[in-house]
Amino acid sequence: MALLVKKFGGTSVGTTERIKAVADQLVAARQEGHDLVVVVSAMSGETNRLVALADDIMPDAADPRELDVLLSTGEQVTIALLTMALLSRGVPAKSYTGGQVRILTDSSHSKARIVEIDQQKIQNDLSKGRVVVVAGFQGLDAEGDITTLGRGGSDTSAVALAAALQAQECQIYTDVDGVYTTDPRVEPRARRMEKITFEEMLEMASLGSKVLQIRAVEFAGKYSVPLRVLSSFKPGNGTLITYDDEGTEMEQALVSGIAFHRDEAQITVCGIPDQPGTAFSILGPIADLNVEVDMIVQNVGADDLTDFTFTVNRADYAKVMSFLEERKDELGAASIIGNNRINKLSIVGVGMRSHAGIASIMFHALSEAGVNLRMISTSEIKISVVIDEKYLELGVRALHEAFELGDDEVEGD
Ligand code: ASP
Ligand code: MG
Repeated sequence: MALLVKKFGGTSVGTTERIKAVADQLVAARQEGHDLVVVVSAMSGETNRLVALADDIMPDAADPRELDVLLSTGEQVTIALLTMALLSRGVPAKSYTGGQVRILTDSSHSKARIVEIDQQKIQNDLSKGRVVVVAGFQGLDAEGDITTLGRGGSDTSAVALAAALQAQECQIYTDVDGVYTTDPRVEPRARRMEKITFEEMLEMASLGSKVLQIRAVEFAGKYSVPLRVLSSFKPGNGTLITYDDEGTEMEQALVSGIAFHRDEAQITVCGIPDQPGTAFSILGPIADLNVEVDMIVQNVGADDLTDFTFTVNRADYAKVMSFLEERKDELGAASIIGNNRINKLSIVGVGMRSHAGIASIMFHALSEAGVNLRMISTSEIKISVVIDEKYLELGVRALHEAFELGDDEVEGD
C-alpha cells in the first residue's frame, strides 16, 4: 500500500463523462489499497476562457491580483465535481482549494512559487480513509491573497504535494501516454520511453517537449519525487522520470531524445568593436526589456571588430530588432541582421557524458540530409543547432534515425 499523488489535466476532466471516468479509475486504485491525493486542472479550455473574459474588461493588462482570483475558479469547479463523483461511488472524499490546504506561495501573481505546504489537514483526511482532492495551479500568499503558479501549474502543485507528503510516486495523467523520443507528429516512429532521468526531462522540456511543465520537473528532481507521465485514456505504464540510481545510462542510449523549438529568431549585430563590455552593452538593455536570450555566439574578432549573434523567442523578434536598430550608432555596429524563420533542434542524453563522438554523428546525419547549421551550442547532456525552419522535419527524422531511436515495430510500415 502506497501513497500516490495523481494529477489529471484539463482534457482528463474536460466533461462530466470524463470526470466520472476519472472517478472510476480512482475507485480501482483505491481497491488496490493505495492512499490517494488527487490534483486536478480546470476543465479544458476553461482557463483560456477566463483569460479572455479578463482581457475583454481590462485589455492586455488585467490586474494581477484579480486575475488570479478569477483564474483559480476553474480548478475549484473540477475539485468539487470530482469529489461528488467519488462520493456517489461510495468513496469517502473531500475537496480543497490550494489555500485551504495551505499551499503557501510568494506573492508573484500568475507565476507564484510554492514556499511551504502544511500537510496536516491532508494527512488527517488520509488517516480517515478519505481521498483528498486538491485544486491545482493555486495557492495563497502571506497576505492571504490567492495566487496562481503559471500556465500548466497544476503539474507543479502535484509534485509539490507529493514531495511534502513523501508520496511513493507522483503520477501525471494527460492526453499522451508518456514521454516520446521525439514528437510523434513529426516522426511517426517515435517511441515511448520507459524511463528518463530528471536531467534529460528538464532539457527535453526546456527545449520544446511540452509534456510537463518545466518547473514541475525541476521540483521533482530537487526533492527526488519519482514522476510518472501516463495517459488518462489508454492503460499503460507511461514514462517514469527518476534518478539514474543504478548508475547505468538508462536504456543504454547515447541519446535519449530529440527536442525542437519552432518559435525562434536569430539576430546578429555585425561589426561591433571587439572590446570589454560589448556583450553587456548589447544584452544588458535587452534583459531590461524582459526578453529572454537563448543561444549566444560571438565570433573571433578580426581588425578589432566582431559579430555577435543570439537567439530570442520569435514573439520578441520585432521588438528587439527595432530596439537594436535605434541603438546601432551608440553600439558602433555596422549593421543589424535578423532571421525569424529559424528553429532550434537538439539532441539530449546523459549518455553523452561518457561517449565521445556524439556531435560528429549528429553533424554527419544533418549534412547527409542537406541541413545547414547556422549556430551550434553544447552542454554536458545536449547539443543544439539552429537551422532554417523549412528543414525542421527533415532534421528531426535524420537524427532520430542516426541515433536509432525508432520503434522497430513501426519500421518498414
Ligand atoms: N488550468 C491551468 C492552465 O490551463 C493550470 C493547468 O492546467 O495546469 O494553465
Ligand atoms: Mg496542463
